[in-house]
Amino acid sequence: MLLGAHVSTAGGLYKSIENGEKLECEAIQIFVKSPNRWVSKEPTEDDTNRFKESWQASAIQSILIHDIHLTNLTSPKPDVLESSRDQVRSQLQLADVLGIPYFVTHMGAHLDAGEDEGLRLLSESLNLMFEQTAGGEVMVLLETTAGQGSNMGYTFEHLRRTIDNSKYPERLGVCLDTCHVFVAGYDIRTEDAYHETFDEFDRVIGLDRLRAFHLNDAKAEYQSRKDRHEHIGEGNLGELPFRLLLNDSRFADVPMVIETPKMEEMHATNLSVLRSLIES
Ligand SMILES: [Zn+2]
Ligand SMILES: [Zn+2]
Repeated sequence: MLLGAHVSTAGGLYKSIENGEKLECEAIQIFVKSPNRWVSKEPTEDDTNRFKESWQASAIQSILIHDIHLTNLTSPKPDVLESSRDQVRSQLQLADVLGIPYFVTHMGAHLDAGEDEGLRLLSESLNLMFEQTAGGEVMVLLETTAGQGSNMGYTFEHLRRTIDNSKYPERLGVCLDTCHVFVAGYDIRTEDAYHETFDEFDRVIGLDRLRAFHLNDAKAEYQSRKDRHEHIGEGNLGELPFRLLLNDSRFADVPMVIETPKMEEMHATNLSVLRSLIES
């Protein structure tokens, strides 16, 4: 089991390892740039070395980088598109320097351009990013989204098309967010529904592409397409889907991180709820 949490890097990248260790994480997710700013200080060689040394000395096995919040690789606005591509490229380069294998990003919002144009532009952006980081080994994990506004990625078919349209399909995987798929219309609340959803995922995308999970309960209703995370077991998903996931041998080697609210105060509680669901 590779269970853990999104943790803070405040005070330096290596702090994320300390934060993960305090929570007894086997996996963590981090931001490597300020998530709400276009410009942030590049880590120095000292910073990246210290991170790598701390990671090596820790029990953390798997690390994911989450893209900053501002990027939109499908923006019809040229300046936003260019900045987004710059940011993603530099985060992919940083991931390679840090030895982090996965970079999680959302599929973007087409605004008023329509989904076909949005998906086309996303593929163009991703092809360019991979071209510009050729030789790198980082995989981009497309995250399933809630489908708020004009966000794409709320159907498995969107992800399939993006993989099919890629010149570098070997560098694309998927991060499944339990809250997002549920509010987007993939039920996982009963054992039957859980199996139907993962059978569908396997049929449309292929389970071998599934490289990470975000474990979040949902504050919003089924099919509401509203992205609001809730503490594990306290939302509309309840504990069962998490029990099924944590004991599904197909996902034993797939990192699972929580992104539930109030990270500082509540991560330990949410992780202990999850650990209590693991059947030995
Ligand atoms: Zn995300
Ligand atoms: Zn979310």
